[in-house]
Amino acid sequence: MTTPWGLPDFDDHEAVHFITNDQCGLRAIIAVHSTHLGPAAGGCRFWHYAKDEEALVDALRLSRGMSYKNAMAGLPLGGGKAVILADAERTKTPEMLHAFGKAVNDLGGRYITAEDVGVNVADMIEVSRTTQYVAGLPNSEGDVGGDPGPHTSLGVFLGIKAAVKRALGKDSVDGLHVALQGAGSVATGVALHACTEGAKLSIADIDDVKAKKLADRAGGKVVSPDEILGLEADVLSPCALGAILNESTIPLLKVPVVAGAANNQLATDEDGERLNARGILYAPDYVINAGGIINVCTEYLGDGDASLVRRRIEGIPVRLEQIWAESSESGRDPAAVADAMAQRLIGRA
Ligand code: NAD
Repeated sequence: MTTPWGLPDFDDHEAVHFITNDQCGLRAIIAVHSTHLGPAAGGCRFWHYAKDEEALVDALRLSRGMSYKNAMAGLPLGGGKAVILADAERTKTPEMLHAFGKAVNDLGGRYITAEDVGVNVADMIEVSRTTQYVAGLPNSEGDVGGDPGPHTSLGVFLGIKAAVKRALGKDSVDGLHVALQGAGSVATGVALHACTEGAKLSIADIDDVKAKKLADRAGGKVVSPDEILGLEADVLSPCALGAILNESTIPLLKVPVVAGAANNQLATDEDGERLNARGILYAPDYVINAGGIINVCTEYLGDGDASLVRRRIEGIPVRLEQIWAESSESGRDPAAVADAMAQRLIGRA
């Protein structure tokens, strides 16, 4: 099958911009997938790619993912993503970030940038010197903005509660066993919410020190990263890596619910069907992990305060319910249902 531009990941993106600046050494790609619902919003990744083609694939896939995520979160925003192609030494200079900001600015607001992997708040402050189309900047006391992690954690926790309600008929996680993969920023918030409500926690991280620290703080038990996926529990919450749900791992799962923050948890589309065939309720990742982008976008749009952020995050379990209801009715797995719903919302059904 021939694909447009010879790129299998090209999905009728509205525009793909290639930026080079020899003076400061900037090489970047900005992919605008859809502006159907509003300006294309999505973070900027700073990464060393072995091949330029990999950077393009990342920009194409991630920008489409942002269209879906923003639409499903009910935000008046489209989807886009930028990648800065770092050299092997990962040299990052203020000049490079200013040039990137100028490129964003030249798009006149069609793309709004923010932090992603390899880019921090200090970098975004540099970017903001040459463009106003930027979010994820530090907030003053009481203002919306700042670290998206705690907002992602809240959305994931509310999503877990909705999932156990649907799968187990429970109104809370009190007494339930939650297996957490990862003990980083998002997992920490999820663990603290869950332990406050009385959940029993098992925590695994490749960094033993982090796992132990979180287990001590939240009253959980540390298990090895090799064991976590096969643990008998009520909920598996993947909060570390992508592609962990695949042909080899899905048969090992001993949980009725998978609900966690990690992006791209399903290795392939078929893995959504595999989970469904095993009767495991799955919370599509880009729906349940939207709390952070909700906070970032509310900051950028300036259309509300912390209570609006909270209300938008409380929409996450509502959206999950819609997906699961449609999945039960149609027999299609929740990930496929979510994709179809997102495509309808962005006018691409
Ligand atoms: P983080 O870097 O703070 O934490 C990730 C943790 O996973 C680290 O402690 C790392 O040691 C651990 N880890 C890596 N490989 C592991 C393995 N094989 N087994 C067990 N642990 C492993 O990242 P984070 O901000 O908490 O994000 C977690 C996930 O959620 C990522 O996939 C991220 O893309 C996704 N996500 C995060 C946000 C956010 O607001 N931070 C928003 C949406 C999605």
